[in-house]
Amino acid sequence: MKHTSPAYDLECLDLAKSFGGFRAVKGVSFEIPSGSFFSILGPSGCGKTTLMRMIAGFEDPTSGDIKIKGKSVLGVPPNRRNVKMVFQHLALFPMMNVYENIAYGLRCAGVGNAEIKRKVQDVLERIALPDVGEREIHQLSGGQKQRIAIARCMVLDPDVLLLDEPLGALDLKLREAMKIELKLLQHQFNTTFIYITHDQSEALVMSDNVAIMNQGIFEQIGTPQDLYHHPKTAFVAGFVGDSNRWSGTVKSADGTGGKVETDQGLSMSFSAGADQTIRDGDKVEIFVRPEFIRTVRASEADQAVTEGDNQMSGVIDSLLFNGANSRVLVRTGSGELIESDVTVTGNNDLKPGEDVRLIWSSRQAMCFARAESA
Ligand code: ATP
Repeated sequence: MKHTSPAYDLECLDLAKSFGGFRAVKGVSFEIPSGSFFSILGPSGCGKTTLMRMIAGFEDPTSGDIKIKGKSVLGVPPNRRNVKMVFQHLALFPMMNVYENIAYGLRCAGVGNAEIKRKVQDVLERIALPDVGEREIHQLSGGQKQRIAIARCMVLDPDVLLLDEPLGALDLKLREAMKIELKLLQHQFNTTFIYITHDQSEALVMSDNVAIMNQGIFEQIGTPQDLYHHPKTAFVAGFVGDSNRWSGTVKSADGTGGKVETDQGLSMSFSAGADQTIRDGDKVEIFVRPEFIRTVRASEADQAVTEGDNQMSGVIDSLLFNGANSRVLVRTGSGELIESDVTVTGNNDLKPGEDVRLIWSSRQAMCFARAESA
């Protein structure tokens, strides 16, 4: 039995939803500590919106339980759950000014005019827009509209704020700015935000914890750093961050690591993480992040290799400059394109067409049972 603690704003217990014979959410359990920023990240169709709709009360679960502040909300209609939701299209009322948009929920709840005035002004100050109350919605910028949509929910003091890809409709530059802004707003209100997205950069920048969702289940929940450095499945390793990726078969494994023969016939060594149970004959995938691959001129490579390193020869195809780093694309003898990163303070005078050796430690090679889909 799971212990219910008021330290959690939200708990989902073996939560599942089927539509006819199709299982959209397949028994998901998690809890969110008070006042945190939690994201649900996964590809289109994995069940994020269905999960969110169950939490908001728009969809009844097929089985399982949802607790808000320790109390089950099964059967409680959306307007009686202390949960608010910001949608991608914000749903601000265009015929009302900013003040009336924010005041609307308070009026519906029967709050008096003087109290409404105080609360609206307070929330406008918290979102750093103290003077826009009289503005019409069409007079606001895209970023201001986002903040007003959040203010309209936060003025009602919800236990949990759900955000369903609210940055999806913004252009790239504004989206970048709003990622930081949303995190600051969550901090300012100290309320739990649950954010769903298929965009890993949004989830990783803003969140305290992220759940990686795939085909109706949570593959892993962790901090952004955990998910990046210690993925537990091939799906998570492939979905979070960039990787070079090889399929292969384990030729020898002893619990601390082993060797894999890739489908291209190359031999690669890996070190097993603490929770790895890779055995001889397993079909696996190897992942290596670009920043862990060193690109060394062929003439200097022998001195750069230490025992146990993996290595591969190739020719530089192109270099993609990215400020502090350059991403180097190297074409190997078997025709693969391998990505590695070099820093501007490193050997960044590499040129396309140069013969190089790619070198990486077996400790940086992550090995997982092959993903069913990714
Ligand atoms: P997206 O990022 O594209 O919005 P998602 O991860 O939010 O995707 P959901 O919208 O939750 O995914 O859908 C999960 C699966 O459940 C999909 O295969 C979808 O077609 C199916 N589904 C969702 N709602 C219904 C419904 N009312 N009836 C039948 N199937 C549904």
